Amino acid sequence: MYVCGPTVYNLIHIGNARPMIVFDTFRRYLMHRGYEVNYVSNFTDVDDKIIKAAIEEGTSSEEIAKRYIEECKKDMAAMNVMPATTHPLATGEIDGMIEMISELIREGHAYEKNGTVYFSTRSFRDYGELSHKNLDDLRSGFRDLKVSGEDEKEDPLDFVLWKPKKEGEPFWESPWSDGRPGWHIECSVMAKRYLGDTIDIHAGGEDLIFPHHENEIAQSTCANGVPFAHYWMHNAFLNINNKKMSKSLGNFFTVRDISKQYDLMVLRLFMLSAHYRSPLNFSADLMESAKASLLRIRNAAESLRDIAEGGADAPLDDAAQALLQEAKAYIDRFDERMDDDNNTADALSVVFDLVRFANTGVTAGAPKALAQGVLDVLLVMTDVLGLKVLQEKENLDGKIEALIEERQAARRARDFATADRIRDELKAQGIELLDTREGVKWKRI
Ligand code: AMP
Ligand code: ZN
Repeated sequence: MYVCGPTVYNLIHIGNARPMIVFDTFRRYLMHRGYEVNYVSNFTDVDDKIIKAAIEEGTSSEEIAKRYIEECKKDMAAMNVMPATTHPLATGEIDGMIEMISELIREGHAYEKNGTVYFSTRSFRDYGELSHKNLDDLRSGFRDLKVSGEDEKEDPLDFVLWKPKKEGEPFWESPWSDGRPGWHIECSVMAKRYLGDTIDIHAGGEDLIFPHHENEIAQSTCANGVPFAHYWMHNAFLNINNKKMSKSLGNFFTVRDISKQYDLMVLRLFMLSAHYRSPLNFSADLMESAKASLLRIRNAAESLRDIAEGGADAPLDDAAQALLQEAKAYIDRFDERMDDDNNTADALSVVFDLVRFANTGVTAGAPKALAQGVLDVLLVMTDVLGLKVLQEKENLDGKIEALIEERQAARRARDFATADRIRDELKAQGIELLDTREGVKWKRI
């Protein structure tokens, strides 16, 4: 499975997080169904925006890319997005790109003009098939190539495979010029190297269908001589006030921003509460409702765990056996929803059905084995969704105690800003501090 990854010149925003979360969930589902998944997702670490950020900061583009790859990996871990099997970097794959471009030129699918290499879209009969674009319309809409300085193209739809460097830009030697690859060739080369000539699933945001994925298909099919991807999956946008969240519009929240206010499992649940092909509008109300939903699942899981730890050791009687069988059947229902094109919204509703079933059917005094069995069923589903619902009790308590101690130390040192920051941090994790005469107590809210 190949998923187009981010261009790393800034912290990722929660729009970028949508493909990460939905395709990570799909990967987890495939694993749950017994597939071994080879998951490849790139970092685009050479690009105009990265170069611009480097110039603005007076540093190198390597430095910018390295920093934001690290930050992106932290955000992914905090959203419980599994690391890819391979996270290739564009700059590590230049040889493969030069090789593929050379092959395309040899086969008559690409041509060079003044150090720039273009892909010839007319050389690929199926160009436009993925996006169902009317190519004649597009071609006639591109009359002003002279203005944009691209008048050396043979066709308005031709796109860049290699371009010469400009002063001060990173570059690599090639048979055509000292320069750098175009964006599209990167994904074709990485998919080929890590997954083979034909891949099972290719995914990314719907803004990538045209021209990025259309171009990937053209390059890969012409270079490899076999079909490129069996299935394409495209997530719809995360919107804000019904407009696409994006860096350029400035209407975004970074994952880091959200993590200050919410446990990122809330963000994850919010993302999965819509079908991945439906637009999703970000709002405080929906986040609050996701927070309440997560709490409902967590409470049920914790109560099942408490019963499993402290309940009766008795063997299951017929009634309890029947309940356990009933609980297990929820997994089939969950799988059915997920089989229906990764319908996480409906799959989540099965989780809530099970929560309701557990809250009424497995109460204090129930046999241990029943509580444990129902908890196992719940965890199968929440693991597929990547939702952490049972926090390690001692571990978590230890961390909270340590933060409280840090806050007390800050207060003794009259560093009230730090003390307040720690209190807010804990509050964001759903922990409220109570300053009592016996010392500081805490409770979950
Ligand atoms: P970029 O860094 O802009 O190339 O984006 C990386 C990934 O995030 C691509 O798969 C984009 O389609 C996706 N993406 C960017 N903005 C949004 C958004 N507002 N909603 C959903 N996906 C997005
Ligand atoms: Zn791509």
